[in-house]
Amino acid sequence: MSETTVGMADPAVRRQLMADVAQEPGSAKPDSILSVDNITRRFGGITAVDVNHLEVQRGMITALIGPNGAGKTTFFNLITGFDKPSSAGKGAHWSFDGATLDKTGASAVAKSGMVRTFQLTKALSRMTVMDNMLLGAKDQRGESLLRCMFRPIWSGQEREVEEKAAGLLERFKLLEKKDDYAGSLSGGQRKLLEMARALMSDPKMIMLDEPMAGVNPALTQSLLGHIQALRDEGTTVLFVEHDMHVVQHISDWVVVMAEGQIVAEGPADTVMANPAVIDAYLGAHHDTDLGDDDLLDEGADLGPVSETVSDEQGSQSPESHDEGKHA
Ligand code: ATP
Repeated sequence: MSETTVGMADPAVRRQLMADVAQEPGSAKPDSILSVDNITRRFGGITAVDVNHLEVQRGMITALIGPNGAGKTTFFNLITGFDKPSSAGKGAHWSFDGATLDKTGASAVAKSGMVRTFQLTKALSRMTVMDNMLLGAKDQRGESLLRCMFRPIWSGQEREVEEKAAGLLERFKLLEKKDDYAGSLSGGQRKLLEMARALMSDPKMIMLDEPMAGVNPALTQSLLGHIQALRDEGTTVLFVEHDMHVVQHISDWVVVMAEGQIVAEGPADTVMANPAVIDAYLGAHHDTDLGDDDLLDEGADLGPVSETVSDEQGSQSPESHDEGKHA
């Protein structure tokens, strides 16, 4: 836990830290862990991402919201090295925890501590839960021929990695499923596995793409609790989510994207009352309920929120969403 993230479990400390931050697109943060400049991505005639400046505060939960096609996933792909900006070499610049990432590939980005979750592809679904976890391990020393010659060292590391995986599976209540195929898990359990797998590399910032998609009511509160616990332990969280109840309930800061640009930033309550957000975001979702945080207060009846989550995601499996669109 860094000096800045100490005390972040206390909502008053988080509010105080952000109290003087300008509630406008691209505002400077007291201690940004991620800073992005001039990043654009065009697909043919479509400008999917056109972000002038964005800073993400260390130790907080930041939500990235916006209507379908706003560019959120493309933005995730760009900053994690899974895609290249059209503005590469023409002023695009981004850094994470002080290190420039402009020309950094996906695996080096992950090693730097910025890790995104991956929805279970068909290949991962055919592997066991434990094997999925082992894939998420950082610095697999066994990959190197030289190290393979020193088998005892590798075996020791393998044991350590397995123990770590078992610990995380226990935390996410998946340990008894460790030998099951990942594809046999429920939607919510898949989300928990995706999160647990990302944590194998001890990220400084975890990036979640629609963590509530396909999650049934029974696991909604548990997933939210895990995300908040990560923040409370000092991990920065950046997540994309369509469910506004969820966004209101757990976000310390909300960034709104529309047509590739950042159009608003601020605490959830303020942002959702912002006319630019209502125009840009709700313009595409006239009937969207912007959320009522009371519904997710501890001990509250989760029925309406959970129904919203499962209704919205309906029959769409996380796998089909992922495979259709992302690299
Ligand atoms: P959603 O909330 O629906 O997931 P999003 O905000 O994540 O949307 P993106 O998926 O990033 O939006 O898409 C932004 C724009 O870029 C859309 O117009 C989309 O059709 C386009 N786009 C994304 N990926 C590609 C691609 N590989 N080829 C062509 N166009 C793409």
